[in-house]
Amino acid sequence: MILGDVCTRNCAYCAVAHGRPPKFDPAEPERVAQAVAEMQLQHAVITSVDRDDLPDFGAWAFAETIRQIKQHVTCSVEVLVPDFQGNEDSIRAVLDASPDIYNHNTETVPRLYKRCRPGGRYERVMRIFTTAKQMAPHIPTKSGIILGMGETNEEVLAVMRDLRAVDVDIITLGQYLRPSSSHIRLDRYVTPDEFRMLRDEGMAMGFRHVESGPLVRSSYHAWEQVQSAGV
Ligand code: SF4
Repeated sequence: MILGDVCTRNCAYCAVAHGRPPKFDPAEPERVAQAVAEMQLQHAVITSVDRDDLPDFGAWAFAETIRQIKQHVTCSVEVLVPDFQGNEDSIRAVLDASPDIYNHNTETVPRLYKRCRPGGRYERVMRIFTTAKQMAPHIPTKSGIILGMGETNEEVLAVMRDLRAVDVDIITLGQYLRPSSSHIRLDRYVTPDEFRMLRDEGMAMGFRHVESGPLVRSSYHAWEQVQSAGV
């Protein structure tokens, strides 16, 4: 996770600290690349907190981290980026660095955005994927949904259809676990049968890969997802 450990947003399900982030360190991308080289990774997932305080929302740091990794090692790079407030220059800056996967999590269904993700906008997420595919149709896109925060399976399926409509290639579906009593309440445990049903429906919709299960998170088996999707 780059760009510090303090987020400028405050999603109701997230355990990351929020507030005023520390000053951005421009040497961080090179250090990340060194770490990837030392660990001899085949696939690196780079993510960050939201940095609404930076003029480019942190896009340069993502782009430079991709460039540094690719310069030092043979390793595919997946970026799990914030929404950059939908800023097209930021999206383009990251895509121009040629990540192997452009991932942005939808997180929940539109009805729950205000409660769960007050700084985000569902329509903006869909716009971001449309923009990304227009700018770089060859770069696969990926998104994820957390289940158990009050949504219904029908609403999840509707979000999956929306994501397919903007040509998202890979989707992850996992169970919400409440980090503390000050986070949004757990509404339900989704059963293994329901996760299987969602995976099958997703594959029928045309996703190249659906990772669906209680333990699934955005980077869960990320390398296997890449291989399964034929990326
Ligand atoms: S934007 Fe991301 S890191 Fe920040 S609070 Fe929301 S989920 Fe957590």
